[in-house]
Amino acid sequence: MIKAVRGTRDLLPPDTELWNFVERKVREVFARYNYHEIRTPVFESTELFARGVGEETDIVSKEMFTWEDGERFSKAKLREAWLRENKDRVFIDEMDQVLVAGFAPIDLAVYPTDGSRVDRPLIELISLRPQATEADVSALIDASKRLVTERGGMLALKAPLLRIVTPAGARSVNSTEVEITQLAGHFFESVQPLTLRPENTAGVVRAYIEHEMGRSGLLQKLYYIGPQFRRERPQKGRYRQFYQIGAEVIGPPSAGSELPIRDAEVLDMLIALLHAVGLTGWTLYLNSVGCVHCRPAYNQALREALAGVKDQMCGDCQRRAETNPLRVLDCKVPADQPIIEKLPKIADYLDEGCREHFAQVRAMLDTLEVPYQVNERMVRGLDYYTRTTFEFTHGELGSQSAVLGGGRYDGLSEQIGGPKAPGIGFAIGEDRLVLALQAQQQQALAPLKAFIIPLGTGMNRHALKLARQLRAERVTVDVSDEGFRLKKSFETAEKLGATFAILVGGNEVEADAFAVKRLKSGEQTTVSRAELLEYLEG
Ligand code: AMP
Repeated sequence: MIKAVRGTRDLLPPDTELWNFVERKVREVFARYNYHEIRTPVFESTELFARGVGEETDIVSKEMFTWEDGERFSKAKLREAWLRENKDRVFIDEMDQVLVAGFAPIDLAVYPTDGSRVDRPLIELISLRPQATEADVSALIDASKRLVTERGGMLALKAPLLRIVTPAGARSVNSTEVEITQLAGHFFESVQPLTLRPENTAGVVRAYIEHEMGRSGLLQKLYYIGPQFRRERPQKGRYRQFYQIGAEVIGPPSAGSELPIRDAEVLDMLIALLHAVGLTGWTLYLNSVGCVHCRPAYNQALREALAGVKDQMCGDCQRRAETNPLRVLDCKVPADQPIIEKLPKIADYLDEGCREHFAQVRAMLDTLEVPYQVNERMVRGLDYYTRTTFEFTHGELGSQSAVLGGGRYDGLSEQIGGPKAPGIGFAIGEDRLVLALQAQQQQALAPLKAFIIPLGTGMNRHALKLARQLRAERVTVDVSDEGFRLKKSFETAEKLGATFAILVGGNEVEADAFAVKRLKSGEQTTVSRAELLEYLEG
């Protein structure tokens, strides 16, 4: 049996209902904050993540699904190989290459190396192709005819041989008019390294730059919902394909993209969303990781503090202590934790601007009565963060307790070659949000209210009509089939967790009143069509 790959999973009904419920709420709530959806590709050039997320992060250094994109036929390599192989027999005159250049698919015109100039007419017109199809053959014949007509006077032409050269093993037709030569060797070049996106902020900022979204001078408030990919060790709440719901506010500084109100508004929106989906029991951790001006002093302090202790730390930390000391704080190795606890704290190194920014964000959160805890160790595992960073955790999630994380990234756009465009955003782990909701046993979904059971031939259509009427009133119902025995229909109704069973038989249709059974108590009443909705909701 072929199974889903380790770390990936199928999302099946009824779980998908909860996913859809969450996504519906996301769209509702985000729209109220004036966010609009953006969809970026699931793969991007590897360089985007290396430069954006950071080479030293776990994500980039260990967890990306990266590949060299296919291979492209390289005409240059094939040309070089063919000339090398035939150098004793033929040579090319660069002047004449110019004369044949407009006659695609002719790539080369070659002369014999022996004989005088007069006796040295062109001997071959060559087309370098990844394969030799009928179309390639006739294109070469056509081109050679045009060449003779248009350039015959300028070229020393004397019925040259037509040749198509392809890599060995390429598809090839037989031809009497064109000679087909296959060369052994590697005539392909890799196009570019690509990576399945491990996160979506870098992609959104890339799109912002590419489409010059800052030109309006307004803030861009963008959100996305989609899969992300990281080669992590799979466990509950940690997958290799997982889903993130994220949002980004980004724009030129003149639009106010750097201001603390944006940070507070983003957090306020998150809380509104968590409230809308019914998640309770979360904790918000907040920190400021400084900016390009104050970070160097902190990095230096970390380096100095690490110099004496790094030998006792894990291999990754020993390397990071040199290359990117901030990333030491992400380390999860238990033995390293007591050492990390004693390292200098970022709060003591924030410059005036960062300190003031953070104070203002906190003051606004206080006014909005948002509960949070400052966690000075929380630097989050991506290099692009500046100033405010945050994370929401949920107790029901066990070791993978982070439901969402985010922060400011004031330098990211410039880092990947764009204009100055400060921003702040977050990503919710949708898998974990759904797990937390399930764990909380919050029945966020409308449960099945009624199972409609058609009784006897010709009753299906009446049952469907009743179902349509109730569904139009936003009642969740499902329908059995007139061919099923009543016992089977009742069993199905119970399995589906329906509150009521509604019988639709000939008598009911005639009286326009239905036998309604409350499945838990077994109590049964006849209710008219007009009173049905009120009865079910009552
Ligand atoms: P990050 O992009 O690392 O800041 O992660 C943001 C959120 O995505 C985390 O708080 C998690 O909820 C979720 N997340 C990250 N990695 C995974 C994963 N491998 N599986 C499931 N959820 C994840």
